[in-house]
Amino acid sequence: MKSEYSPQFLRDACPCATCREKRTAPTDTNPLQVLQPADVVEMAVNAMEPVGQYAYKVFFSDGHDSGIYTLEYLHELG
Ligand SMILES: [Zn+2]
Repeated sequence: MKSEYSPQFLRDACPCATCREKRTAPTDTNPLQVLQPADVVEMAVNAMEPVGQYAYKVFFSDGHDSGIYTLEYLHELG
């Protein structure tokens, strides 16, 4: 398994529905949500778990584990 992406990079690129919505939604409508705890703590990957033969589920240190990273998606990121 290659590890050429930083945990923060992977977290920002999380492909789950929740994160995709966050990325497309405007963030300047609610100032209280601009700075979240996850933004000030250095991100880390606690674990990665194979999903089938072509994807990995990533467990981030902020407790988020909804993202399924397919190998194809990881290739696209690179
Ligand atoms: Zn996500």
